[in-house]
Amino acid sequence: MSNNAKEVVLSTEDLDRLKLMLAPAEQRIIILSHTNPDGDAVGSSLAWCRVLQSMGHTVTCVVPTRYPYFLNWISGIDEIEIFKEKPEEIAATIKQADLIFCLDFNTLSRLEALSDAINENSSAKRILIDHHLSPPRSYDLMFSHPESSSTSYIVALMIERMFGWKVVTREMAEALYVGMMTDTGNFSFSTLTPELFRTVAKLLETGIHIPTLYNNVYNGYTEGRARLFGYVIDKKMGIMHNGEVAYMSLKENEMRRYGFQQGDSEGFVNYPLTVKKMKMSAMFLATRKFIRVSLRSRGAVDVNVFARRYFEGGGHANAAGGKSFRTMEETIEHFRASVEEYFAEIEGTNGAATESTRAATEGETK
Ligand code: 5GP
Ligand code: MN
Repeated sequence: MSNNAKEVVLSTEDLDRLKLMLAPAEQRIIILSHTNPDGDAVGSSLAWCRVLQSMGHTVTCVVPTRYPYFLNWISGIDEIEIFKEKPEEIAATIKQADLIFCLDFNTLSRLEALSDAINENSSAKRILIDHHLSPPRSYDLMFSHPESSSTSYIVALMIERMFGWKVVTREMAEALYVGMMTDTGNFSFSTLTPELFRTVAKLLETGIHIPTLYNNVYNGYTEGRARLFGYVIDKKMGIMHNGEVAYMSLKENEMRRYGFQQGDSEGFVNYPLTVKKMKMSAMFLATRKFIRVSLRSRGAVDVNVFARRYFEGGGHANAAGGKSFRTMEETIEHFRASVEEYFAEIEGTNGAATESTRAATEGETK
């Protein structure tokens, strides 16, 4: 199959508008990213933060909840403020901000309690830098590129165009590389373009050591996580729709049994797709308030549409997520019924996907 991924082309006009916004000296800037921040959220935020700091601005990175422990080694990550851990203090900082950047998400509702603090600051200009589909029009300036494999890649291109590669330190390059690596499944999903690899080459020229970065992220788990993974795949994986759809679930007591830490279930949902005929995979993870839903798919099965329609969520065509406020059993029932309805629709009435739809867009994006 040939590569038909689209290159990211930044708008010169929008970059000029951004330069004007950043021109006044010593502004107070907030960089926000999403709940359950991943490598891309953290990587893009930290690199962008460093650039704005070097211009003399006061910058605070904020995320609603803590990042997973296997990202702890990233330089500067402890400067990221976690809203849940000191909401009043962070809300006060947000209220005084002159500019608010939203990175790696586009729906403010994904910020949960944090969105109230942002809405109280109506004077700050809001700028979006993101690669998710369907951004709302509520931003003053948008760098919305769903064709990009990660937000970190967009940030790298913005830095290059606005300041040149000379400002990219090794630490910034590490953060950006982690974002690109994690959102592309270590450069294996679709939306990989020649320019992306040229950008990786430039990151490499700053002296980053790719095997170390890979090891830090993918081989940094606990023994409990390895055993939990075995348990989930062996005991908790349901298969339906002629072996083409898999779903897994974890309740809080099961997680406790394996000493679960935030981030331990990262990647589980991808595993059923290693089965050749699998088209879609779902993971249901119990949290205190609701069940977090993760969805992955291959080819023409669009889980962004599925997540929006059935699980109050969204994301990308082949990697999406959402929420369920039902019990685990009811959530699974709802999922199974939704799969039947959705697949009947995309497969037409004859019940079988055509080869052409299967071959349409092999790959994944996150
Ligand atoms: P993950 O399964 O890794 O948590 O999320 C996969 C993708 O789906 C991410 O790119 C994320 O942005 C998106 N996503 C996950 N949960 C939600 C949600 O509740 N709402 C929306 N709009 N997107 C989500
Ligand atoms: Mn991302």
